[in-house]
Amino acid sequence: MPDRQVASVNPATGETIETFTPLANAAIDSALARAEAQFASWRLTPFAQRADLMRKAAAVLEARRDVYARDMVLEMGKPLAQAEAEIYKCALVCRHYADHAEGYLSDEVIRTEAKSAYVRHLPMGPVLAVMPWNFPFWQVFRFAAPTLMAGNVGLLKHASNVWRCALHIEDVFREAGFPEGCFQTLLIGSGAVKGVIGDRRVRAVTLTGSGPAGRSVAAAAGDALKPSLLELGGADAFIVMPSADLPKAVETAVNARVRNNGQSGIAAKRFLVHADVYDEFRTRFVAAFAALKVGDPMDRASDVGPLATSKIRDKLAQQVDASVAAGARRLTPLQALPDKGWWFAPQILEAPPAGSPAAEEETFGPVASLWRATSLEDAITAANDSPYGLGSAIFTQDQGDIDQAVRDLDAGSTFVNALVASDPRLPFGGVKESGFGRELAADGIRAFMNRKTVSIS
Ligand code: NAP
Repeated sequence: MPDRQVASVNPATGETIETFTPLANAAIDSALARAEAQFASWRLTPFAQRADLMRKAAAVLEARRDVYARDMVLEMGKPLAQAEAEIYKCALVCRHYADHAEGYLSDEVIRTEAKSAYVRHLPMGPVLAVMPWNFPFWQVFRFAAPTLMAGNVGLLKHASNVWRCALHIEDVFREAGFPEGCFQTLLIGSGAVKGVIGDRRVRAVTLTGSGPAGRSVAAAAGDALKPSLLELGGADAFIVMPSADLPKAVETAVNARVRNNGQSGIAAKRFLVHADVYDEFRTRFVAAFAALKVGDPMDRASDVGPLATSKIRDKLAQQVDASVAAGARRLTPLQALPDKGWWFAPQILEAPPAGSPAAEEETFGPVASLWRATSLEDAITAANDSPYGLGSAIFTQDQGDIDQAVRDLDAGSTFVNALVASDPRLPFGGVKESGFGRELAADGIRAFMNRKTVSIS
């Protein structure tokens, strides 16, 4: 019997937009059969043919940008301009892999006693992607573009609050002309994921999401002896040193914390500011937060929209209340918010004590935690005192600071004088509880390939 209906709810109003019926087991089975059948021929298509289709997918995205951006806002509440930018970024990643896949996957020649020896990258088969709602298009395209260009085929299990987006994405590839079965959306709940991973036709799984979901998916992949890639949560540090360009640091800090309504794995969440510039940074940071306009995400004047679900709003409120009760100082005034929907005003908490949620956990919403650091060592020690290691940022003009931060920050990336951002040309991923494996660039397309050793004597 299929699961009960799944609803998309507008987080700005709390109103149901649309309901969906999850796939029954027989429909899941048919989809897996289509994926397997299509892989047999897709793996043999020339790169030029795949690239042509991928460029068409980029064109479909751009042509239908208004519809896709609007539905993203309706389903998860990000400001409209950010949703539009997300669609353009998806087109960019499609073109990036259309241009570079063949080069990324070229043979690696190795000298031995044999006549010739090399590593050839061969696709593996259907890959399952379990994806989150926070960048409903981008997270999927950064998986789909390299996967399809590599000659693998894709299966998407999207988060249950963005199934309209999930169906749009399947349409993009269909309209671009990809053969049936190359990319399929499976409307399934998380309870059905383990069975799909265990199915012999599925060869690998990638997940972007929370730690609990990552543990469950990695365990299922381990049980089935299949490769997995995990992009999990983060509590990224943002360090500001005395030589920093302070106005730029503050402007970037605000953007790094509140973009996407604060719901980003790589958002800066913990701000560690050197004592010499702390007071000035704090004054400017608080003023910038107070100036943020919270409102209807469809209104281009809004900087921050609602949180995506009531569960996320309630969890963040509980984390902030517990941190304040533990001694964190709230630097931003509480403001009136609409009654309906899942609103949360941007806030700065000063010096949340060790053990409080704002110091220990990921805060998935527009809440910044701010501490005074006595030195760069002090800031790096605090930055590394986290179970997470996704991204990290430092503002400084000092080469010694940069060298030390790059060497000592225990994170998947360090951005200097800029916010942490994904870019199709740069590998992306985390360490510790932020996951394992890398997406994007050459790493991303090589993630699920058979690196076949060939030796010819
Ligand atoms: P989530 O609850 O883990 O959901 C992510 C996906 O996993 C959804 O498709 C969800 O399906 C599925 N899922 C949940 N529990 C599962 C289970 N036990 N087995 C199999 N699948 C399961 O995460 P979220 O709240 O949507 O997303 C926010 C989290 O993602 C944050 O921690 C954030 O930091 C992280 N994130 C990381 C990155 C990165 O690049 N590293 C990027 C974005 C977000 P249902 O919706 O059906 O439950």
